[in-house]
Amino acid sequence: KTRLPDSPVPTVSQYACQRRTTLDNPNKVLTDALEVLVENCEFNDSMGPCSGFRRAASVLKSLTTALSCLQDTAGLPCLGEESKTIIEEIIDCGSSSRVEDILSDERYQTLKLFTSVFGVGPKTAEKWYRRGLRSLEQVYSDSSLHFNRMQTAGFIYYEDISKPVTVAEARALGCIIEETASYYSSGVSISLTGGFRRGKQFGHDVDFILTVPEPGKEDGLLPAVIDTLRSQGILLYSDFQESTFDLNKLPSRRFEAMDHFQKCFLILKLRAGLVEGQQVDPGCRRDWRAVRVDLVAPPAERYAFCLLGWSGSTQFERDLRRFARLERGMLLDNHALYDKTTNTFLQAKTEEDIFAHLGLDYIEPWQRNA
Ligand code: ATP
Ligand code: MN
Ligand code: MN
Repeated sequence: KTRLPDSPVPTVSQYACQRRTTLDNPNKVLTDALEVLVENCEFNDSMGPCSGFRRAASVLKSLTTALSCLQDTAGLPCLGEESKTIIEEIIDCGSSSRVEDILSDERYQTLKLFTSVFGVGPKTAEKWYRRGLRSLEQVYSDSSLHFNRMQTAGFIYYEDISKPVTVAEARALGCIIEETASYYSSGVSISLTGGFRRGKQFGHDVDFILTVPEPGKEDGLLPAVIDTLRSQGILLYSDFQESTFDLNKLPSRRFEAMDHFQKCFLILKLRAGLVEGQQVDPGCRRDWRAVRVDLVAPPAERYAFCLLGWSGSTQFERDLRRFARLERGMLLDNHALYDKTTNTFLQAKTEEDIFAHLGLDYIEPWQRNA
């Protein structure tokens, strides 16, 4: 027998931004299980163990082969004892008792159901659960509860917006938004971002970035788009958020859910006839569906940061920022990259520029499914 020369074992980085994670995931059974634990931690407001399970799931998603025994995890980062126990149980018995217990837990099931409503987070879901409510019908018909505008829309369009959005629908929406924005200015550019940019075939919404080349002109963009969508009769819900962006503000230290650009969260009416390959069913009571659409309008000079920030995945974004801070002494968010050593903002026209500033190999959007 000939012995192969020792080849360097390719090491897997603890940072998702140094791993290439496509949508092919041979360890889906394992990552789904770990994500149940993440979700359960989020419902219990225990952030500590949460990030451990998140990182463990994310590392497994980057593997190109299925784990066949616990020894296969040797050398992998971010796998704590708890995660390893889950992995071992599933490899050996096909399921994990800890995960199965959570899945059959009434509280978990109810909070998952309640948070599936647009505008309902873990806190509200918990409040309803404590009142003894267990179904959406019970919640909706409870006259002592007050729903905000977002939640009301969430209930009204629940069925439609729970249905995954397809690539063809995302494309049709892109055409609608592009045409609508062109009435404001012929110079508007529109980019598809979020999960569809990462190559996903389905999404819970469609995310677009809109920019105009003239500095400052982005201020009126989304209000104009919203007005036009309304006059076309396809605006079902809109939550417009004015820009609070300040060019000189340092990137945020914390991973915030919100950035400071002008943005809006919409529900639009998408007519079946506009979606390629979709037949209009004459027997159907209506020829449209409601879809969730997010629009963000950064100043053109910050486009690359916004694109990188909105392309996700959330774990990829978290690790980009953590890497920037801990390994490079830099602060990164959706608006800017700041070098703390030289006290300067680093400019970027493209995502490639940002990766280069960070000393990272470029990771394509479809490799960011961490
Ligand atoms: P899905 O297919 O389920 O929509 P997704 O990856 O597109 O998956 P989104 O919730 O649409 O998920 O978010 C897309 C990206 O935009 C994420 O990376 C997230 O960090 C970012 N993002 C979402 N909402 C905001 C917000 N309000 N402010 C800043 N960034 C946001
Ligand atoms: Mn999305
Ligand atoms: Mn979104």
